[in-house]
Amino acid sequence: MARTYPALQLSWLTAPEAGAIDLALAEIDADSPTAVQDHDNGIRVFFQSSDLRDRALARLRELYPAPNCTPIEVPDDDWAARSQAALGAVTIDRLIVAPPWALPADLEGRHLVIIQPSMGFGTGHHASTRLVLRLLQTLEIRGKRVVDVGTGSGVLAIAAEKLGADRVVGVDTDPDALAAADENVRLNDARRIELRQLDVAATLVGFQGLFDIVLANLTGALLYLHASTLSALAAPDGVIVVSGFEEVDRRNVAEAFGAAGRSAVQDLEEDGWVALGLRSSPTRSTTR
Ligand code: SAH
Repeated sequence: MARTYPALQLSWLTAPEAGAIDLALAEIDADSPTAVQDHDNGIRVFFQSSDLRDRALARLRELYPAPNCTPIEVPDDDWAARSQAALGAVTIDRLIVAPPWALPADLEGRHLVIIQPSMGFGTGHHASTRLVLRLLQTLEIRGKRVVDVGTGSGVLAIAAEKLGADRVVGVDTDPDALAAADENVRLNDARRIELRQLDVAATLVGFQGLFDIVLANLTGALLYLHASTLSALAAPDGVIVVSGFEEVDRRNVAEAFGAAGRSAVQDLEEDGWVALGLRSSPTRSTTR
């Protein structure tokens, strides 16, 4: 099902007078609009929910002179592109990531990860997902504890489970992503996965040093902001695999992890996207 965003289209008969748009926006500020776009003789305002949109509509109808307001559902065009791109199966070394309607007839010894394309990012069609999956397959996974920070569709968590991880925790802030991940976990019968709604900033609580492998396909900014939290999730001899950033951010990300005592020992690139495998930096101590 394609996602749509609740919005209000506000239009004036002619180009709105100075201040008219500001007045309308001030009127609906309490309904927490999330974005405003220019549109013909007016604007299009987006809301987090149709309830908030409808409250804003009621307020605007009381305004004099009121713009003409139409509640609309704006389709997420990217969704269509993503779902089209997600039509086929993708092979990444020993893994095949496929939607339920394109399961391969013969796995030829590979592990299958079934992903129903939906609101959760991660169908295997983005380079950063594939890079993490490639690095993951270079690691010893059997019997290991893995955390997937920003699990999205759950693709990395499920892959880790299929490759033999003993326990996998997937966390995400987005409830839509978690619902998608939950569906995918069930589709894959991946019983050693536990999903939690958590912010990367809060993942440390109860999790410190607990994981042999930490996966984080986020963004450059999130990675360097939270490098020390992500590092602290990993056991001292653990591995942290990060991606979701491009070449320009590589230095910042590597430096932030360096400050947290982890340095890059593996490094992959595809379409300008980068993934790093980080381990504890050699200590400078000379004893022994
Ligand atoms: N792991 C998947 C999805 C990566 S997309 C893959 O590799 O393809 C990044 C995910 O991180 C999104 O689902 C997003 O909701 C989540 N995310 C963004 N900010 C976050 C935060 N502060 N804490 C936890 N997860 C976050």
